Amino acid sequence: MNCWTRRQFGYLAGAACLTALAPRVARSQKSRVVVIGGGIGGATVARYLAGVGTIEVTLVEPKPSYTTCFFSNLYLAGMRSFESLTHSYETLAQRYGINVIHDVAATIDPVAKTVALKAESKLPYDRLVLAPGIAFKFGAIEGYDQAATEIMPHAWIAGPQTELLRRQLDSMEDGGVFLIVAPPNPFRCPPGPYERASLVAYYFKQFKPKSKILILDAKDSFFGQEVFQDAWARHYPGMIEWLPRQFTGGIKAVDVKHLSVETEGETFKAAVVNFIPPQMAGELTQQAGLADQSGWCPIEPTSFESKLQPGIHIIGDAINSGEMPKSAFLANSQAKVCAFAIAAALTGSDLFAPQLFNTCFTFLAADDAVSDSIAFEPTEGTIKISEILISQVGEDAERRRQVVQAANGWYAAFTHDVFG
Ligand SMILES: Cc1cc2nc3c(=O)[nH]c(=O)nc-3n(C[C@H](O)[C@H](O)[C@H](O)COP(=O)(O)OP(=O)(O)OC[C@H]3O[C@@H](n4cnc5c(N)ncnc54)[C@H](O)[C@@H]3O)c2cc1C
Repeated sequence: MNCWTRRQFGYLAGAACLTALAPRVARSQKSRVVVIGGGIGGATVARYLAGVGTIEVTLVEPKPSYTTCFFSNLYLAGMRSFESLTHSYETLAQRYGINVIHDVAATIDPVAKTVALKAESKLPYDRLVLAPGIAFKFGAIEGYDQAATEIMPHAWIAGPQTELLRRQLDSMEDGGVFLIVAPPNPFRCPPGPYERASLVAYYFKQFKPKSKILILDAKDSFFGQEVFQDAWARHYPGMIEWLPRQFTGGIKAVDVKHLSVETEGETFKAAVVNFIPPQMAGELTQQAGLADQSGWCPIEPTSFESKLQPGIHIIGDAINSGEMPKSAFLANSQAKVCAFAIAAALTGSDLFAPQLFNTCFTFLAADDAVSDSIAFEPTEGTIKISEILISQVGEDAERRRQVVQAANGWYAAFTHDVFG
């Protein structure tokens, strides 16, 4: 823990360094950075670059406010309000002077260095940062398309989908089955589906104790499996069943009319289905040719500049991230490395060695949470794990309660760092 905290302070100090990089100059002489996507990665890079006096930052984001995926499982369990997860762009615009435009970036012209917005205006840039998050591979599983999300929500991009799943769980009768389909790797937030199962079980235990949770997994194992299975046995005996791919033969199709999911050998019916589809980098990156055959965007690990298109940086869940999981903590960490690289390219300031780290808090029950802390470093053109510290089975209850407190403190500090 000490390790990442020290490094984090390094980066907070770094924000001050970025602010001090350049003298104040007239608006017309400033370099222009356009950031697409006002989620965790995009808002962070915009906020840190806005501190450089010679850079003018524009942030393009369609939504008027941002709801965090992290802690959304607490909302599903009735432990947190939707409002407490939602953050406005006001401070970024007013205190940091970022030009926030609520629109969709439609196309990129890397030769003319412009981005066309849906509302038809064009934004010129000197450097472009893309942080569009994930898109879903609709059509990968028969029957699961955009329309199906209204019956079987994914709730994997927080917002109306999360609210829909909450309403479905609320109105489900006691004794029903809640079915979660967990996606193949790589996907946003590796512990997320299993945290969701834990917290919905916490809710069921209080209000619908005869209900069951079934996880149909596209994989044969998952991150933190021992810790989760230990918690399920202790807190929710007999309530959660996990079926790996080798048992079911894999997920083949869904039938939204009958609320069923078909695997190789069997069809499973449920009262509520949370279908988390296979994923890829956000649509704009696919359309702009910035993603490779893997569906994710290859980047230079020290600057997050695209390996396919110079002058365009990509951060967050959309990148092919080597050994880094797709997390908000890392999107924020990558954004700071990227901000330093852009500031160095545009102002000639020093380029620091990148430091990337992740701390993930995972809730197993209201008073039982675990954490993992991982440091990374660029090696041989990719990014690999250098240090790792993970919660273990058998830790005492007091320690787990302290992690709950640390998680709540982290949420407040982290969202302040991103949105001001
Ligand atoms: C249930 C769940 C729990 C999670 N828990 C944790 C956790 O505890 N800790 C943690 O670190 N991470 C957690 N995560 C993961 C975390 O939410 C993501 O990794 C993080 O949001 C990624 O940030 P990003 O900036 O890449 O994408 P996002 O935050 O999704 O932001 C992308 C933004 O880009 C915008 N956009 C997309 N296309 C365009 C376009 N063409 N034009 C303009 N804007 C566009 C979108 O509207 C969106 O606002 C969790 C995720 C889930 C689903």
